[in-house]
Parts: sequence; structure tokens; C-alpha cells
Amino acid sequence: VSAHACEPTAVDDDGLGPIQWPDGARCAVMLSFDFDAETLWTARDPANAQRLGTLSQGVYGAQVGIPKILETLRDAAVPATFFVPGWTAEHHRDKVVRILAAGHEVGHHGHLHLRIDPEQPEREREEFARGLQALQATVGVQPLGYRSPGWEVSALTMTVLQEHGLLYDSSMMDHVHPYRHTLPDGRRGPIELPVHWSLDDAPLALFSVRAPKTIVTNAHLLQLWQDEFREIYRWGGLFNLTMHPQVIGRPSRIALLREFIGWLRGFPGVWFARGADIATAWAQQEARS
Ligand SMILES: [Zn+2]
Repeated sequence: VSAHACEPTAVDDDGLGPIQWPDGARCAVMLSFDFDAETLWTARDPANAQRLGTLSQGVYGAQVGIPKILETLRDAAVPATFFVPGWTAEHHRDKVVRILAAGHEVGHHGHLHLRIDPEQPEREREEFARGLQALQATVGVQPLGYRSPGWEVSALTMTVLQEHGLLYDSSMMDHVHPYRHTLPDGRRGPIELPVHWSLDDAPLALFSVRAPKTIVTNAHLLQLWQDEFREIYRWGGLFNLTMHPQVIGRPSRIALLREFIGWLRGFPGVWFARGADIATAWAQQEARS
């Protein structure tokens, strides 16, 4: 029997074993904010650009949501990741500058927040390039991470990320643990930091007149997030929470964020980290195994 066979491996054959996070941490927590602002509404309907009432929901995200989120993260002393469309960086540059100055990560989130259409590869490439260019031109950011608008991905997406040197993607729902993409041509692609609708504030708390639904209470969201966290913690994985400044930035939701971070802190070995740090740590484990 080789020594190797006697030692517990970091990741079992299913890729579901606990991940060896830095400093012996049990679970990684990625707090992510999709700073769509007005693009959330203009991407749904370009005519919304003239509907100031509809747009004002996105304006709130920039005007109130971002400052209150930054204050909450500062008080809790935790880092976070903000995925920012190029348009948002151009129109709310001061807020993105403040995000960066506070030590948070800024990732790529398209340009006009257009959902990827697999039938329009040229549009996908253009939207990606424009978003990248806008982040570089306005705030000097060369993003390491990408999150696709509305979490749609085509067969081309990971190749585009690879071509532009991105380290990771965070748009897929096929796992809980991070994993490495394989490109269509067989080459190694970016790392995935998986997401899910249940760990997103928008499906449950973002209201739209065109598709009205009940706005849930904090208790509802808290129970979903806590239940999911407890089991991910048990698995030794990644808890990747997606929030939107125009949703989580409401007064009661800011209280929810503050209380939830405090609750997470009650668990030993929780590592709050930015997406790029999580992807880097996962890649180090990958290299060791
Ligand atoms: Zn978005």
C-alpha cells in the first residue's frame, strides 16, 4: 500500500470532498454584488431608458445601495466582489472608485447587461469587449472575474474569457464546489465559482410591474440562506451569495445583510474572501492534487 493511498485526499472522486481553504478554513464565503444599476431595466426593454420611474430603481442601487453596502462591509471588516457592467462604470464612476478604494474586487458583468444569446456570437464578443474596455478606461480595472448577465452562458463564453486572460467565471449552476472549465477544444479554461437562484436576492425580492410577485420578508431570505449555508459549511465548500444594490440596499435588507454576516461569523473557520482570492486558493489546491 502506497503512502498516498493511506492519506485522505483533499477532494474525493466525485469532487465533493471538503476543499482545503487557506489557514485551515472550513468554508469560503463570497459576498457578491451585481451592480447593474439602470442596465437591469434597459436590458429588459431599451424603451425603459425613457421611463424614469422604472429607471429610478436602478438609480437607487447606485445612490443609496452602494454607500450603505460599503458602510456595512467596512463595519464588518469583510471583503466582497462587485460585478459591474461597463455602462455602470461609465455612469457611476465615483461609486466604482469607492468600491475599489475600500479594497473590494471589481469584476466584469457585460456592458449593457445583455443576456448572452448563443445564436449571436458576434454580439456576445462585442458586449464582452465593450464592458472590458469601459472598466479599463473608467477605473483602470483589468478584471479577473466574470459574471454573465442573468447567468446565461453559451458554448463560446469560456473561450472568450480565456482569450482575455480572466481567471474565473461565476455564472453556472452545475456544482457547489469550484471547478475548472474545459474549453470546447479540450484546453484548460477558467475556474468556475458556481451560483444559484436560491442564493440570489433578485428572484425573491426584486419587484417588477411587468412580472409582479410577492416581495418576501427578511425572515424568508434568511432561512433560505442559513439552511443552504449550514450544509455547504458541512461539505467544506463555497457559499457564493449574489445580491443587487437596488435590492439589498433597501433599509430593511441592509439590516438583513449586517445580521447575516454576524450570524456567519458565529461559525469557526469561515473565510470571507473576494472571488479572485477564492479562485486562486482553489487553483493552488488543484496544483497540489
Ligand atoms: Zn446583473
